[in-house]
Parts: sequence; structure tokens; C-alpha cells
Amino acid sequence: MVRAVSLDDDASRELAELAAAHRLRVPRIVDGRQGTAITLDGVPVVNLASNDYLGLAGDPRLTEATRSALENDGLGAGASRLVVGNHREHVQLEAALAAWLQRPAVRLFNTGYAANVGVLTSLARAGDVVLSDELNHASIIDGCRLSRATIRVFAHADLGALERELRGAASARRRIVVSETLFSMDGDLADVEGLTRLCRAHDAALIVDEAHAVGVLGPEGRGLCAALGVVPDVLIGTLGKALGTFGAFAAASRSVVDLLWNRARTLVFSTGLPPVVAAASRAALEIVRSSEGDERRRQLARKARGFREAVANAGGAAESAIVPLVIGDDREVMAVTDRLLAERVFVQGIRPPTVPEGTARLRIGLSAAHTEDQLRQAVEALRNAVRQR
Ligand SMILES: *Cc1c(COP(=O)(O)O)cnc(C)c1O
Repeated sequence: MVRAVSLDDDASRELAELAAAHRLRVPRIVDGRQGTAITLDGVPVVNLASNDYLGLAGDPRLTEATRSALENDGLGAGASRLVVGNHREHVQLEAALAAWLQRPAVRLFNTGYAANVGVLTSLARAGDVVLSDELNHASIIDGCRLSRATIRVFAHADLGALERELRGAASARRRIVVSETLFSMDGDLADVEGLTRLCRAHDAALIVDEAHAVGVLGPEGRGLCAALGVVPDVLIGTLGKALGTFGAFAAASRSVVDLLWNRARTLVFSTGLPPVVAAASRAALEIVRSSEGDERRRQLARKARGFREAVANAGGAAESAIVPLVIGDDREVMAVTDRLLAERVFVQGIRPPTVPEGTARLRIGLSAAHTEDQLRQAVEALRNAVRQR
């Protein structure tokens, strides 16, 4: 029998094409805890690639917090939370998150990816219009597509363009605006006050993804909206970034959060988080809310300002921990990361389709835990690596 299609041959061909275009992706191996100094493929490096903005991912207090949960609950949740996987640890974490964010209710998701897909497919449907910033995260894009709503992508952070789209969607059953608040690949901030004003004026709901802002911005690290006194209809945050653990959440009204039990397929048809992970998140949240959290946020903002002063063409908002350095060409950005690695500094090169064509870049992630020595070494290596172009 002749096979019409060989998955294997097709995969090999596609891999060869990606390699030829300098777009092949291969992960490196980490040994040991996350931190600002890690061992990558067996080589000790300064780590400028993580989202561990407060330096909590490797914190022994988080490991410690898992001990009694591990003793009591074991590891696996056993089932979807809707069946018998709803452990008290999950419920306690949701209550702690709601109290922190000063919202009526919070629902946990297994990842930020699952949260965006679950929320958007639960709240938007055929006949609705979702207005989405062009630089929104892949999980928002996928959630929009799966929702079957009409999708209108507006130019990044362009409130004029958004307003035109809102006018054009006046006859839709419902309008939903969705935006990140601290953009993941550009380190810039959405004008959340402007977004709220437009949503009010055009009777639209606002969903914000604060994945990179929770823990980092605002009072007690409650995010950019809280910093500006804005209350979105739904706030999505992740626990895997500044909080240093794993999982994600949506904070909203009681009814919206309860609807998620009934509509969010990424929640309903997926095993609950291991309860120990919820326990660790609760410990991380305590640190984030404490004066120690304030101090870590101050350190991070100070280091981000200093880093931007030291590195020419460093992008992003002044105090943002995400520092993009746009190189442009895919091959060149990978050559720069290799030169950095030779100096034991690791920065992730980001290429299309993660970022738009022609804007391949270094995405530097700063941490409150970076030492002055590590940052000096990184700045020096960056200057050399980029100068050689
Ligand atoms: C990382 C990220 C997510 C996904 O969060 P995970 O918990 O890692 O799945 C969602 N939205 C944005 C903006 C992100 O940067």
C-alpha cells in the first residue's frame, strides 16, 4: 500500500525549513533551582530570561509551604475539580486571591493559557465582537478564535483605532475589549484608564491580562489596574511569573466566576492543580503582599531604571522588568545570544511568529534578586555582543 502522507517525512521537511530560516526552536536544560544564576546545558550563567520578577521561584519558603500539603493531600488532585479534584487548598487559595485583589470571586485555572482560553470562550460567543490588541498573547488570540465571536484586532495601544472598531460594532450583541496590561514582549503599559473610558462610552466589557503585572505593579502588587484605580470586568493573572509557582486565575463578579464552572472547558475537562502547588501559591502571595514584597518591587523598579540608563536602545516602560532590545533580523538575534552565552550571560532571543516579522529581539527579564555584579556583567556583555554586529 502506498501512503499518501508520511507524518515523519513532513515533519522532517518542516524542521529543515525552520532551521534554514533560523527559526528552529530547541530548549536548553536547567539543573537546579531557578534564580538569577542558573546552570544551563551544564554551564553556569547569569539568567536574564525568566519571568521570576521577584526572585521567588526558588525561594525555600515556597518549598517549605508544600510540606504539610504534601503530607495531607499527596500529590495528584485525582480528577477535575468539578468531580472529586476540588481540594480545600484550591478553595483557600481562591479566597486569598479574591481578598488580595478586592474582587468578589476568583477562579483558578491550571495555566494562564487555559485561563485566557477558558474565560474568552465562556464569555464571548457567536454574535459578539471581541476587540483585541494586536500584540496580545497567543493564548488570548486562541481564546478569541475558539469563542466563535467576531474578532477585531486593533493597532497596538491605539485608542483611536479601538474607538473606531467599537463604533463599527455598535449593533453587535455584546462588545468585549481584551488587552494585556504590561505587554510581555515589549515591556510597555496599556492605557487602562483610556480603555475603561472607551468601554463605558460604548457599553463594552473589559478583560485584562495582567500576567506580567501581578506581583510587580500596584499596591501589594495587585497589578496595573489597581495602581490606577481601574476595575476591569475580568482580571486574568498568572501564578507562574512574579509569584514564582504555577497556575493562573480569573477575578471577576460572583456570577461570572460561577459561570466558568459551567462553560470553561479548559477548567471542566482538565485535572485540578496539585494541591501542593496551591499551597505554595498561598505562601508566595503572603510574601508578595508583605513589606518584603514592597521592598522587592522597589528593588526591581530601581534595577530596571538603572539597566535602561546603561543599555542603549533598551525599550519598555521606565520601571518595567521586561526590557526588549530589538535587533530585527532572526539570524542576527540568535548570533547575539550565542555571543552573550560565550560570556556566560543568557538572554532569550525572540523571533517571529512570537513577535512581528523584522522585529526579532532580545527579551531581557530583570529580577529583584539580580545583584549589582550580575547586572554589570550583563550590561558589559550586551555592549560587546551588540557592538560586534
Ligand atoms: C505567560 C503568559 C500567559 C500564560 O501564562 P501561563 O501560566 O504561563 O500559561 C498568558 N498571558 C500572558 C500575557 C503571558 O505572558
